[in-house]
Amino acid sequence: MIVGIDAGGTLIKVAYTENESLQFIKFPIAEMDRVASWVNEQSDSKVCVTGGKAGVLLSLLNQEAREIVEFEATHLGVKFLLARMERQEESYLVTNVGTGTSIHCIENDRQERIGGTGVGGGTLLGLSHLLTGVTDYEEIVRMASAGSRDRIDLKVKHIYEGKEPPISGELTASNFGNNLFAVAGELSKEELLATVIGLVGETVSTVSVHAAKQCGCSTIIYIGSSFFHNPLLKEVVTSYTLLRGATPLFLENGEFSGAVGAMSLLQE
Ligand code: ATP
Ligand code: MG
Repeated sequence: MIVGIDAGGTLIKVAYTENESLQFIKFPIAEMDRVASWVNEQSDSKVCVTGGKAGVLLSLLNQEAREIVEFEATHLGVKFLLARMERQEESYLVTNVGTGTSIHCIENDRQERIGGTGVGGGTLLGLSHLLTGVTDYEEIVRMASAGSRDRIDLKVKHIYEGKEPPISGELTASNFGNNLFAVAGELSKEELLATVIGLVGETVSTVSVHAAKQCGCSTIIYIGSSFFHNPLLKEVVTSYTLLRGATPLFLENGEFSGAVGAMSLLQE
């Protein structure tokens, strides 16, 4: 069996082959011991690890394992998952919305990290918790889908009252920037959570679109567990990316890019 593991700030992603088929599982970072025990129980396995917590995981393993730099693993994994979707892309941007957000330019099979933002999946969890008390990821996402941002966000058209704005009036002028004095006490958790997802989605897509212009590519591949079971974040990112003239692409199992990349190193 060959196993690739991406131990990130929040989640551990595992990709492995069993009877020729590719399997994926994830664990919260708090369950690192469980992941290590599982790996240690597998006889005759080859293992490669990556991610910020790779060193901690390695220290818990009984067997030799390889390690690969996270950005290189992600690049290899994205190439693998693109091929699996029968997509061929020459130059593109990869935006990994993990705990934080990291942005990479891929050109002629070389990757370069060109930036990022501290606004990411960790922000989604943290702000949601502080504003509503809800801490479960799946619950945050489900409740957000039932909420509206209309009373909390300020749009460009709200500022340009009775006048044609110089840019699309539908763009957000200020996330959480509406006049909240009148409504602050009556906002629902659903509205607040939808607005948090709007803030995260618009920030990562705005930064990505600028980065794509900088490196002259038009396709932006979005990966990271923040998109997992999260149709609202995908919708915000898709519409903002298209509005700004770039093409978004979400990879199937994209959150496993690092794990798959680590695994593919063992197949070489
Ligand atoms: P980084 O790459 O920044 O070190 P990471 O690799 O752990 O972090 P990802 O696994 O790509 O990051 O994404 C983590 C985010 O995914 C969380 O911040 C949260 O928004 C979201 N998420 C998806 N599923 C879960 C889950 N079951 N539990 C907690 N967060 C989840
Ligand atoms: Mg990660």
